[in-house]
Amino acid sequence: MMPPGRRQLLGVGLAVAALAVGGCRRESPVPTWTLAVDSSIRTDDQALLGRIGKALDAAANAGTDPAISQFHVRTATVVTVDGSEEVVVGGNTEYPWPQAVHGEVSVMNHVIARFGAAAARQVQFIAFHSQSCGDSRGCGDCRDYLKATTEYNALMLVCGRATDRTIHIRKLADGLVEEEHFADATPGAIGLPDADLERLLAAATDARAGGVSLFTPPEQQVGVAALTSTGRIYRAAGADDAAFHYRYPVGAVLQQAATEREYFVRAIAMVGTGPAWPRVTYRDRQYGFETSSFATMRGMSPTTLILANGQGRLKSTTFEAALPHPFSVARFNPDAIERFLTRTGATTAPK
Ligand SMILES: [Zn+2]
Repeated sequence: MMPPGRRQLLGVGLAVAALAVGGCRRESPVPTWTLAVDSSIRTDDQALLGRIGKALDAAANAGTDPAISQFHVRTATVVTVDGSEEVVVGGNTEYPWPQAVHGEVSVMNHVIARFGAAAARQVQFIAFHSQSCGDSRGCGDCRDYLKATTEYNALMLVCGRATDRTIHIRKLADGLVEEEHFADATPGAIGLPDADLERLLAAATDARAGGVSLFTPPEQQVGVAALTSTGRIYRAAGADDAAFHYRYPVGAVLQQAATEREYFVRAIAMVGTGPAWPRVTYRDRQYGFETSSFATMRGMSPTTLILANGQGRLKSTTFEAALPHPFSVARFNPDAIERFLTRTGATTAPK
């Protein structure tokens, strides 16, 4: 037992659990959460670290239902409401298509449900109680959701490693790249034969007139086309519906190619309207990144991502650059990709 004054000085998440045993009251110390020496963000804000420790202790007991992966993602944050600190937890759920609600979406949805959307914008951090801490900033869909619900440029993603109770702080913003920051490009610098680039852009431009836009603003409607290693072109447009379950155009075009067992995509073009650059959702970047992983695992170039505005200007990048610090099967289970490509008989070179 240490005196209360000393205990307060320690600050960082030090909790003392009071247990009543057989009518006697005794206190058993819970180990402290401490900032990891290799945390990419350093802070000596003891109040913040205290809130993070409090969140991690709550997240440890968060409920999850990872029916497929058996991988528990337990999350929590602390929001201040009317001067008092409130802990909110979240947990991942999976259902068998396979689909999932991820831990960071869960916790933010719980913050909104309990305290409203304005409180969600006050959230400083999302803490993950985990056995190990990687470098991912989450999947593309979670990035889209956090961009929409939080002050995302300042949002911290905190991993609390249970094995040594260390805190690893990163910024979500390190996983975000605005389209305006993609490199400007000229047709000759994109790395495709002129005729292929022309076919690709024409297909995407044509696709833009299609799709379903019941709720999508006209200026957000985009057309997408993909050029595969066999020289074929597939195209798709976005489609929305009454339940607001958007059918993402990059995902759609890649699904069409995959249906024909075309897994190696050289380039994807997205064409918008007007002078603004078309927006590539992070969910669509995730789809592109996953497909690009097929090519790179077989020694081919990454899939090029080309943007064209409605005035014919171009930008060019890769999905690897557009989705920094990815969440990817290529990182945590590359054997799964190898087994899949072998099973499908996907060719290793252009036909
Ligand atoms: Zn996610």
